[in-house]
Amino acid sequence: MSNHLFDAFRARMPAPGRRLMATDDGRSITYGDMLAQSAQLAHALVQFGVRPGDRVAVQVEKSPEAIFLYLACLRAGAAFLPLNTAYTLAELGYFFGDAEPRLVVCDPAKAADIGPLAERSGAAVATLGSKGEGSLTESASHQPKEFHDVAREPDDLAAILYTSGTTGRSKGAMLSHDNLASNALVLVEHWRFSTDDVLIHALPIFHTHGVFVATNVILMAGASMLFEQKFDAGRIVALLPGATALMGVPTFYVRLLQQAGLNGQAAKNIRLFISGSAPLLAETHAAWRERTGHAILERYGMTETNMNTSNPYDGERRAGTVGFPLPGVSLRIADPDSGRPLAQGEVGMIEVKGPNVFAGYWRMPEKTKAEFRDDGFFITGDLGLIDADGYVHIVGRGKDLIISGGYNIYPKEIESEIDALAAVSESAVIGIAHPDFGEGVTAVVVRKPGSTVGAADIIGAIAGRLAKYKHPKQVIFVDELPRNTMGKVQKNLLRETYKDLFA
Ligand code: ATP
Ligand code: MG
Repeated sequence: MSNHLFDAFRARMPAPGRRLMATDDGRSITYGDMLAQSAQLAHALVQFGVRPGDRVAVQVEKSPEAIFLYLACLRAGAAFLPLNTAYTLAELGYFFGDAEPRLVVCDPAKAADIGPLAERSGAAVATLGSKGEGSLTESASHQPKEFHDVAREPDDLAAILYTSGTTGRSKGAMLSHDNLASNALVLVEHWRFSTDDVLIHALPIFHTHGVFVATNVILMAGASMLFEQKFDAGRIVALLPGATALMGVPTFYVRLLQQAGLNGQAAKNIRLFISGSAPLLAETHAAWRERTGHAILERYGMTETNMNTSNPYDGERRAGTVGFPLPGVSLRIADPDSGRPLAQGEVGMIEVKGPNVFAGYWRMPEKTKAEFRDDGFFITGDLGLIDADGYVHIVGRGKDLIISGGYNIYPKEIESEIDALAAVSESAVIGIAHPDFGEGVTAVVVRKPGSTVGAADIIGAIAGRLAKYKHPKQVIFVDELPRNTMGKVQKNLLRETYKDLFA
């Protein structure tokens, strides 16, 4: 009898005295601590009524105990269901109603509000604060430090993770023990993680990047992490010399580049910088290389699939691409409507299949059916192409595709041209309802500090480079683009804000 994912971590665990985490408030936590505390928390879960197969919904601040709670869920055979700390009560009400958790774990400061909401949906309530305090750890502290792990097969549910909600309402992706285990193993090998690695972990742990990529890779490698509650660019630069790797979203890299102390000397012990969750601008890639001597390794994944592609460890890390399909992952570009595979170089829907691909959306059988092809490929919703050398390029999301005057227009092509202008810091190109064209191409632009560039200058500058139908009909200047916690530009918000532009 085995517990598929936790046993995989256990099998690769270094000596119990080895460090797993060093926190920003000075705590040092070993692998032995992890084993003991996750066992105690697993007992506490049972005390709170959690049975194998139950969901445990968790909205807590980042802490080592929150990671142990995830592991305790695995060990107790429950499905871990982390929730964004920004979710409001109304949003939590939706998630509780949808997931029907047996237990809700929340921050002590929010318990007065969340408690009654959870109880109304039939869940028990426990608290866990950012310093590890609360009723959950209080209950755990009286428990034995060993736990008889519940047997879990590779296909059993390990977690329900809600998508970021960038394109609409979040969907709960059902991830099995093997979805997570297989992907973590592939990443450890592909990115060459070993017990000697020290990863800077400054990502939130309610999103796949921080929990199922960063944390799982570290556990699967028997490595350690500098566990930062928040991303603070100044602190990260100071931590670099004591680390070997960093995983971040593109905004991390943009903000780190603004730090005077970032240079090759500071990064001399780092062997790998990884970026994902949103597109990394080629400009950022180039600036990073110039400042630190390192080529950032960009990879592509999603909540439903974990990681699908990665740039190579050895060999060219090509800016503006997400590299090659990972071992075991099949990736194809297909006609979005028919699913017919397209030729190399053509833009179409990115579809993937492999042990990393989720079992379906929680309680959404119709949606699940609609997002899979008959031969088992998952329709990612991202548009892309494979270049002559096999690198995968993402050109944008299907939902962001602009159809103007009957032409398909890929925003990224226009954004790349605008972003390349010296006066521009970044841009987002969207389609807005237009009486003549269906949608009108609209550029939302952030100027470089001090620049006074105008709409006509921008259109003039790109006119010779793009066909007329791709030229923005309007250029809007803003101080910054709306982004969610993972640094994703929220084009749905922009479309909503400017929906009457051409009315
Ligand atoms: P929702 O599905 O609810 O609209 P979401 O797709 O943003 O939200 P996630 O699963 O967090 O939720 O994000 C996955 C998406 O992030 C991918 O489908 C892709 O669009 C984008 N993404 C991830 N990595 C990259 C990358 N390296 N380059 C470009 N886009 C990326
Ligand atoms: Mg998505």
